[in-house]
Amino acid sequence: MKKRPFGLRFHLRHLSGIALLIICALVAVPRLATAAETPCFTGPRDATARNVLSLHTLPIAPFGRREIGWAIYAPLIANEIGIGCPADTPAFARLLATWQSKRGLSGTGVVDNQTLNLLKTVWQERRPFVVSSRHGCPAAPAEQLLARAAVSESYGGKTILLQTATLAAYRQMTEAARGDNVIPAGSNLLAIFSGFRSPAYDAARCARQHNCQGLVRASCSAHRTGFAMDVNLGAAPGYTPDSSADVNRLYIAETPLYRWLVANAARFGFANYAFEPWHWEYVGAPRLL
Ligand SMILES: [Zn+2]
Repeated sequence: MKKRPFGLRFHLRHLSGIALLIICALVAVPRLATAAETPCFTGPRDATARNVLSLHTLPIAPFGRREIGWAIYAPLIANEIGIGCPADTPAFARLLATWQSKRGLSGTGVVDNQTLNLLKTVWQERRPFVVSSRHGCPAAPAEQLLARAAVSESYGGKTILLQTATLAAYRQMTEAARGDNVIPAGSNLLAIFSGFRSPAYDAARCARQHNCQGLVRASCSAHRTGFAMDVNLGAAPGYTPDSSADVNRLYIAETPLYRWLVANAARFGFANYAFEPWHWEYVGAPRLL
């Protein structure tokens, strides 16, 4: 009998099996959605186009210092309006329009200075320190009542003191971040580089640096309460983790860890000072998300 070539034999023997596999795969694997069908791409196109344009060009000054573009604040805005899509998507504009309308603004879906200023107010009101400071600078706790972070929790082995509840919440949050793989093994990301700072320490520093009151230095700092901490989220090349240069703030705002904190820190009772991505304050009972 004339033998069929091996390739043909393989074909005939396995054809029915392969066909069956293909059919199974078509049934079992969900159909991939096209871009137009995903939730991120449903929303107003005009507003989206304006947001794309202004993301890195709009002159703003929500905290008093002139900045160009609102990309630094994009993760906070997205979290505030309840969207997981990037700032340049139609869904972002759609959810922003809803947020604006609920708060008495024109629901354009476009990020503008009026919207940014209102967002800033919302974020600042979440910080009890900001609210109480309007009636005078809060008193500092006695240092012996504060808890000391472990060396492994501090940046560069600095002595870090915090309120006991703040340190406990920080530890829970760090454990969760590790569990979600946003802190690579062996890295010092999320290590604390500044915790409690006594009024005397801050006063001496401001006198030394001739910088006693401003956006990044305050004669009445949240750090005097023991509820505030600055954490290492990395730094742009050539910058330190606490550099308030816009390029560094933007770099940090785009890190997976910062985005994780924006989405999760409130569960552990922390609120961010939006101008400084690294500055987080324990504000008490966790906010239900
Ligand atoms: Zn700080």
